[in-house]
Amino acid sequence: MTIPNPSCPVTRFAPSPSGHLHVGGARTALYSWAFARGRGGQFIIRIEDTDQKRSSDAASVGFLRDLEWLGIRWDQGPTFTAPDGSVVGGGANGSYFQSERLEIYERYFAQLIAAGHAYEAWDTTEELDAMRKESMARKEAFRYRFRGLISPEQRTQFVAEGRTAVVRFRTPQVAITIKDDVLGDATLPAGEVDDFVIRKKDGFPTYHFAVVVDDELMGVTHVLRAQEHFTNTAKHIVLQDALGFRRPTYGHLSIIKNPDDSKMSKRDKDKVLRKAVKERSLSAPPAGTVSTEDWGRWIGDDNVQLDLEAAIRLSEALKVALPEINVDDFRRSGYLPETICNFLALNGWSPGHDIEKFDNTFLCERFSLDRVIKTPAKFDRVKLLAFNTDAINAMPREEFARRCREHAAQFRPEFVARFDEAKFALLMHACHERSKTLDEPFRTNGFLLVDDDALVFADDKNVRKALGIGASSVDGAKSGLDHLRAMRSILAALPEWTQVALESAANAYTAEYAAGKIGSVAQPLRIAVSGTTVSPPIWDTLVLVGCNAALARIDRCVAWASALR
Ligand code: GLU
Repeated sequence: MTIPNPSCPVTRFAPSPSGHLHVGGARTALYSWAFARGRGGQFIIRIEDTDQKRSSDAASVGFLRDLEWLGIRWDQGPTFTAPDGSVVGGGANGSYFQSERLEIYERYFAQLIAAGHAYEAWDTTEELDAMRKESMARKEAFRYRFRGLISPEQRTQFVAEGRTAVVRFRTPQVAITIKDDVLGDATLPAGEVDDFVIRKKDGFPTYHFAVVVDDELMGVTHVLRAQEHFTNTAKHIVLQDALGFRRPTYGHLSIIKNPDDSKMSKRDKDKVLRKAVKERSLSAPPAGTVSTEDWGRWIGDDNVQLDLEAAIRLSEALKVALPEINVDDFRRSGYLPETICNFLALNGWSPGHDIEKFDNTFLCERFSLDRVIKTPAKFDRVKLLAFNTDAINAMPREEFARRCREHAAQFRPEFVARFDEAKFALLMHACHERSKTLDEPFRTNGFLLVDDDALVFADDKNVRKALGIGASSVDGAKSGLDHLRAMRSILAALPEWTQVALESAANAYTAEYAAGKIGSVAQPLRIAVSGTTVSPPIWDTLVLVGCNAALARIDRCVAWASALR
């Protein structure tokens, strides 16, 4: 056991490994980490996998990966190899997976039972239901209470009947004061907490028991966790007292909400998808997105959620952006981990003096519980995007290219496969200025990857205007389409396909035939190679598309526009 030094706090983040790391959980981890780091203490990750049905290894790994990505590195906890090859975790207080600590819990169950603080309870589900009903009939809340020890004969009889026992804590009927450095102290009157289960029928400890034993054995001095655990803390305190443990200092953190006051939940993704499906009056799932059975269940019941992969496929088919909820969503969308940390830190805490932009080093130095707010923070996505944009704009262009490449390796491998390193860097440099996220260069430039004869030209106002579709020529002036035809021959004859060569050829042509207005020549070219009036700078774009593909696309565009004229 680590003997805690009161001047060096030990904090922990203790996720239950199901689902994904939500921004609320990430903020709890960030605050716990910053609190310990800033005070020379230790930060522990502990995986609370005592609910065998809901826990998965994949979820544990996901939590560790997301925390590491955020830059929240743990001093003790499961070992994890970071993408840079360094190993995080380990430590003398392991295992850091509760499912591997059952023997430890057994010792403390035995201690409590021997001291009369806990007892076996053999009730069946039916018997418990009947007790609940009785309480309801009396209009009372059901609270299980000790009803005397059973005889050894009775016990043998229960075993023979195939019953299994849980172990319940014999909660003392006393008022319990919870000391909370964030919310303030609160006292729960005597009798509110029942004899709760501490050892389940499957032999695993309940959350309450394991958390108390592990916080003690791991020397945790400060517990920061979600507000929903506030009343659980009363249970933890009575257990600590019965076991002769220290009481850590608690800080319960308010939840993070959407600006409209709703809870930020993964259901928000389904909401967006349902709206898009309704708007498009879809009666069947787009091919390759969701199975017909899942679709039927999902459409028929607003409480049903699509699994994440299916939701992503459907959002791509419907061309709608899913709201980011989990840390991994933000990463996929191209947010920077340092921006997420900065922004999350501000969702519930502030350093004062109107300081808003800071890094994790600053956070560790300044973070204190007395500046954590008690009320729910509102998650302002517009502000987050502005933070991200500012950070991207301030980045040296080489760094932007490098980080985009890392992002693409994971989420946009088709771009990595399509371009060599020089071309990839060119695309990144061309996109840097206008990018708000690391994903934007890929999300907005899908035209670079499509087959030349699959490119779709947008038939909209801007395209028609730029090409002169549907407009009669004024004084015989050339239309965009005429320029495109002319440029096609000029470009085909260029000795080299570089930005400089392309630009000077276009300038020479423009001076003579387009009254020096480069836009009236560049814009038709842009439409021809990208399908729309928006793309990275045109000469870069032409180099990225390549000579043969550009000429083929121009031919198709000329044919398409001529047919519309
Ligand atoms: N496993 C609990 C959860 O994920 C941890 C609560 C705590 O920090 O004590 O909510």
